[in-house]
Amino acid sequence: MPDKTIFKRIIDGEIPADVVYDDELCLAFRDINPQAPTHILVIPKKEIASVNGLTDADQALVGHLYLVIVRLAKDYDLAATGYRVVVNTGTHGGQTVDHLHFHLLGGRSLQWPPG
Ligand code: 5GP
Repeated sequence: MPDKTIFKRIIDGEIPADVVYDDELCLAFRDINPQAPTHILVIPKKEIASVNGLTDADQALVGHLYLVIVRLAKDYDLAATGYRVVVNTGTHGGQTVDHLHFHLLGGRSLQWPPG
């Protein structure tokens, strides 16, 4: 059995995280190395390695994750000024943790295109 990812260990309560939202399907917590004044990671509790691992069975889950992101954007006063949702995927995408996660970044003006 492969080792647990760091995010699965956070879900299982084995390592601490600054949790800002928790429900039966997902968890949201502050990134340990924030790239913006507000940098929150939203992850499914279900173990899915990346967006490449999504199936038809995850349709409602992905919708739920996105609605939680919108809720957090409102709760953390990002909705009016704007924010970015990022899902790094694979090596070229810069993914470093193999558990699906959505970065919610805001609180400053973000550059485009990304590096
Ligand atoms: P990725 O590079 O895979 O898109 O994003 C992984 C993110 O997880 C990075 O922004 C990194 O700072 C964050 N991260 C890695 N380990 C931990 C941890 O133990 N706790 C928290 N809160 N964030 C982490």
